Amino acid sequence: MTAVKCKCGKVEVHLSTTKPLFRLMCCCNDCNAILQWAAWKRRESFYPAFQGIDKIYMENSLRFLKGENLLRWVKLTKKSVCLRSITTCCYSSLFVENLSILGPKIACIDFDFCDVQGFQACEITAQIFEKDVPSNRRELICDSFNGPRFEAGPKETSRWPSVIPTILNAQSTEVVFPKGFTPLREIIERSVKSYGWINLEDYNDNSEGPIVLSGRN
Ligand SMILES: [Zn+2]
Ligand SMILES: [Zn+2]
Repeated sequence: MTAVKCKCGKVEVHLSTTKPLFRLMCCCNDCNAILQWAAWKRRESFYPAFQGIDKIYMENSLRFLKGENLLRWVKLTKKSVCLRSITTCCYSSLFVENLSILGPKIACIDFDFCDVQGFQACEITAQIFEKDVPSNRRELICDSFNGPRFEAGPKETSRWPSVIPTILNAQSTEVVFPKGFTPLREIIERSVKSYGWINLEDYNDNSEGPIVLSGRN
């Protein structure tokens, strides 16, 4: 079992497995934008201002231990298919669901932006979305990275043949749900029914954000 908690400990979710299916460094604008917003809500700086986000991908089988009422789901735009959960107590980022890329069997965790305990070590499978890295950060983020690197999402290439089978295998492996465990989708639907989405599209940090959250506003 892996425990995923927010940084202040009020929210705790357990995953039924401990072994990541794979691990990606994501350099996309969307991850950076939402995590920058969450850092601003925490009154912290997001530094460096653009970074590769280290993500583990686990079997999509979870159980809430506490604090489900503090979880909200964020969309960068109304059409976003990439859904990210943040907590209203301390603006930790816990999970990402991306059905169009990952499919329904995989939950993604930005483990540097929450507190994750009990998962097994896993080498970085690949770095993705280097196309979004600003030129002044390319040397540090891209050129110094040793593993498979992709301008967008990972594709099969002769240079990096091992990445796609790893991901396809994870997408096709049957998920086991111990008693009380569900996929992220059920958690998202419960949350959105009660609290709606947080849409960042019209967000402007010079004035009020588009939503009112409990806690530190
Ligand atoms: Zn918290
Ligand atoms: Zn990303």
